[in-house]
Amino acid sequence: MAAALLEGKKIAAEIREDLKARIEDFRNRSGAVPSLATIQVGENPAAAVYLRAQQKTAEKLGINFKLHKLDEKTNERELIDYIDRLNKERDTNGILIQMPLPSGINAKEIPNFIDPAKDVEGMHPENLGKVLSGKFEIAPCTAMAAFELIKSTGIKLYGKEAVIVGHSEIVGKPVTLLLLNEFVTVTTCHIGTGERGTLPDHVKRAEILVVAVGKAGLVKGEWIKEGAVVIDVGINRVGDKLVGDVEFEGAEERAAYITPVPGGVGPLTVTILMKNVVEAFRAQKGI
Ligand code: NAP
Repeated sequence: MAAALLEGKKIAAEIREDLKARIEDFRNRSGAVPSLATIQVGENPAAAVYLRAQQKTAEKLGINFKLHKLDEKTNERELIDYIDRLNKERDTNGILIQMPLPSGINAKEIPNFIDPAKDVEGMHPENLGKVLSGKFEIAPCTAMAAFELIKSTGIKLYGKEAVIVGHSEIVGKPVTLLLLNEFVTVTTCHIGTGERGTLPDHVKRAEILVVAVGKAGLVKGEWIKEGAVVIDVGINRVGDKLVGDVEFEGAEERAAYITPVPGGVGPLTVTILMKNVVEAFRAQKGI
């Protein structure tokens, strides 16, 4: 039997309805609405889709969105100084650094310079630390989108066996923590697992599978456990098509739930970002 599709836009629409009501309430009570400042250094076509989605979603919700375009010759010191100015600006509630950054800038270090209260991508060590302890308001957006999709199935998480493929700081590691906080037994796979050749053995055990690597067809359909929940975060261009990291056709015959690519995790990520902006605004205003 074919798996049920986990479409991000359905859950995103529900979250957006709630956010709209909260923003309207803020406006009525204080006359102010949340604002997001996105910094882009240089032009990059890969960023264009996400930037458009940020602008469109913010507009729909009544969040002020401002794109700060810096010259591609901006160096690390200048970028940090710019972030610092936004850190101090009272009317900026959330700051996002659009990736990729030019090669001369250490992209991994940059989130450390955002005021944790304005770090709406949840990548500052203080916010990641809170995810570790399970007491957090802001978590990395894509990881949270994957987690929300898993929860939307209504399956009981306690004691389940999950396998995460990919251990990046923005997806694999935080998803591992979010599930661990729910008493899921989690195995996190990475390049070492792939090179040792044991990836299929791990994936075959997964009642919950999250794949975030960026390699088309890495996970074969026949590896999927019957009745599994499959969250495919990967986005890969193959010819003129976008595909995930999981072989969709084989996987959907075995899984109980599966995310399509595109249309799964992606549409939910930007809504979670806006939720983080709202949470940051609320905390900064003490309301
Ligand atoms: P990343 O930083 O490149 O991380 C990829 C991870 O996969 C790394 O941990 C890497 O391990 C691991 N890996 C590589 N080859 C492997 C193999 N053969 N077996 C097991 N693990 C392997 O990528 P990312 O930023 O997490 O993104 C992953 C994918 O998700 C990309 O396709 C990206 O476009 C997509 N994405 C989607 C969204 C969305 O909103 N839908 C958002 C973000 C990312 P090592 O580090 O040890 O090499």
